[in-house]
Amino acid sequence: MTGTVPTSPLRGRAEIDLGALRGNVRALRARLAPGAGLMAVVKSDAYGHGALPCARAALDAGAAWLGTATPHEALALRDAGIRAPILCWLWTPGDPWREGVEAGLDMSVSAMWALREVTEAAREAGRTARIQLKADTGLGRNGCQPADWPELVAAARAAEVAGTVRVTGLWSHFACADEPGHPSTAAQLEVFHELVGYAEKAGIEPEVRHIANSPAALTLPESHFDLVRTGIALYGISPSPELGVPADFGLRPVMTLAASVALVKRVPEGHGVSYGHRYRTPAETTLGLIPLGYADGVPRHASGRGPVLVGGAVRRVAGRIAMDQFVVDLGTGPDADAVREGAPAVLFGPGDNGEPTAADWAEAADTIAYEIVTRIGPRVPRVYVDAADGHEEGVGGDGRGAGR
Ligand SMILES: *Cc1c(COP(=O)(O)O)cnc(C)c1O
Repeated sequence: MTGTVPTSPLRGRAEIDLGALRGNVRALRARLAPGAGLMAVVKSDAYGHGALPCARAALDAGAAWLGTATPHEALALRDAGIRAPILCWLWTPGDPWREGVEAGLDMSVSAMWALREVTEAAREAGRTARIQLKADTGLGRNGCQPADWPELVAAARAAEVAGTVRVTGLWSHFACADEPGHPSTAAQLEVFHELVGYAEKAGIEPEVRHIANSPAALTLPESHFDLVRTGIALYGISPSPELGVPADFGLRPVMTLAASVALVKRVPEGHGVSYGHRYRTPAETTLGLIPLGYADGVPRHASGRGPVLVGGAVRRVAGRIAMDQFVVDLGTGPDADAVREGAPAVLFGPGDNGEPTAADWAEAADTIAYEIVTRIGPRVPRVYVDAADGHEEGVGGDGRGAGR
């Protein structure tokens, strides 16, 4: 773990608004098809927001399940006392299946090797393992190919009869749900119906069938089945600008990335700024130093473009983003003259005080907003707030294990 880096919330901080997260859970639940529940996807430290506080807030607001990628992420939630059902789906040979069985995790199985490892672990533990069979309905990533489905289903059913496993779910994942009307989405749904039907005919009685991620949860009710697995929407970010802005769905961004200006100085015209001198001051001006860099997750690809609200206006990063810092050209206006060391600089937030959003940074870095929030590093403390009642809930020195 790199989570023990000493940090200061004054240098830079990611404020996590758990009130907004709860509101997002409620807004999402209100959109679900009748009978469908919500899985809060908290993989990768809740997309950089802090897995444990976000998991607790999501459950508080009515999420029924949690989802993680790795078993280690799921086990950490169990160790912290979370009792809700947790599905984890990214297994590698030799992973802690036995611990997963004992912790009562729902463990995804996409292939025969995984079924063998989990049944072996269940035998050793003397306990029935909860498994969910994952089908590849067209994503071409994890999941069992339709051609291999009969073998996997038959073996899983045999293991059920033998008492080593219980198949609690049948599931899959979309490739292009964020592109409205993409033909692969309807095709995947059709394959999913077929593969679920096949498994049920073979005697499997899943508790949950699920395929929808955030974009499908927001736009495709016929994909909701028993559960939707929402990640990005939970954090108040639209899965893609094409689908709309968060407010179109009643969502509010949860993370605000802010820093304090570390140095303000006057420089002459023609002064090169940062490595490679990719920016030269067009006139005498004032530069502001922002003490966050690519080690903190500020993408170097946004050099010269990333937007920052400082001194009453949105400025662009001047020159290259370095490991720990970057510079903005404050210009010479009265707003700029008022900027002093310690003044707030907001890289992104909900957007309602004129600050940029994670989506704006995604555009500036030619990536997706998922990557912008998820890559905020462990040197940036997560500060948990609840904007609904305005009080601070606690500072996570490493963003993990903080909050209530
Ligand atoms: C990450 C992930 C999700 C959540 O996707 P979002 O687009 O963030 O909602 C759901 N299911 C699986 C399998 C995932 O890997």
